Amino acid sequence: MLVASAFVALSASAQFTPYVSPARQAVYTPTYRTDGADRKVKNVILLVGDGMGLAHMTAALHANGGDLTMARMRHIGLVRTQSANRYITDSAAAGTAYATGCKTRNGSLGVDTAGCRLPNMTEILSGKGYATGIVTTDKISGATPSAFYTHQPQRSMTREILSDLLRTRALFVAGSSVSLFNATGEERLDSLRAQGFTVLHDFTALPARAPEKVALIACDRDATQVKDGRDTAYLRSVTRYALSFLDQKSKKGFFLMVEGAEIDHAAHNGDIEGVVRETLDFDKAVAEALRFADSNGETLVIVLADHETGGLALGDGDMAQGKVSGHFATGGHSPVLVPLYAYGPHAGDFCGVIENTEVFARILSALNVKR
Ligand SMILES: [Zn+2]
Repeated sequence: MLVASAFVALSASAQFTPYVSPARQAVYTPTYRTDGADRKVKNVILLVGDGMGLAHMTAALHANGGDLTMARMRHIGLVRTQSANRYITDSAAAGTAYATGCKTRNGSLGVDTAGCRLPNMTEILSGKGYATGIVTTDKISGATPSAFYTHQPQRSMTREILSDLLRTRALFVAGSSVSLFNATGEERLDSLRAQGFTVLHDFTALPARAPEKVALIACDRDATQVKDGRDTAYLRSVTRYALSFLDQKSKKGFFLMVEGAEIDHAAHNGDIEGVVRETLDFDKAVAEALRFADSNGETLVIVLADHETGGLALGDGDMAQGKVSGHFATGGHSPVLVPLYAYGPHAGDFCGVIENTEVFARILSALNVKR
């Protein structure tokens, strides 16, 4: 009997792949001065960890010795992610829910189930005088970033999506990559310039004196995962620059969406190391957002995921050693609720179990903006 139990335990544990994080990264402790206060919200920063379920966040937390910046956020909710036509959503429908407040079909971006155009957050707020921006570690035509500027029935329509980028109301866009634009015509970069964007490729060369509009079309190296060479300064540096840039652009306020895209890609690959490293990298961008919010006092920060990827389960680990182990039940997405962390004035509006479309509605309500 004892032998049989030991055998079962051994075969169960063998499914978990271990990862030991070699170092701990610093976390930011917010002041909590305006956290949950019933006061004016001027700016909103929405940070999307693509595919970041509770297990992904837990893995990064434990690999970092038991601490993360997002774990210090005190207003916590859970988000339902189902799309209009599927129990398990994709990033296109989930991104559209956050960007427009409407559920749509998997694969659709910025249009409803009948294919009709839905106004998105950047369009609505730009029309009210807010400065808006989009930052991602993904291709700029990826589902999550493009949900905030495009209106296309299929996420695979890259050519049409990039044409919509030329018409975006966002003043700051950052994503990859140069190759994407080369593949669909170099003239597109010229078209972005013709729309008033200062186009650059190296995030370390973002100009000290802010131009009118910026399109950072990142170099190919910064389109990869951190473990494959993306600079660990990329996401946090671009986020910090975008916050300062947008803050200068409008007295009314700003909206910035920041996506940590590669958490999802690592989880699709069943790669626990990639999940941990990408979630830790994303947490640095969260720290930048909270730091800005503390310096400003009228900024609402929301950290969430669009869906869970991989059906990640965690096995044995050791926080002191930074050791975790993970098992992925699927190579796709899963239907489980995803965590939401909020900070700043009106952060309490986002607690509870809410539909993904409610996030959009509650952001506009916190800003006191009517559609
Ligand atoms: Zn995915």
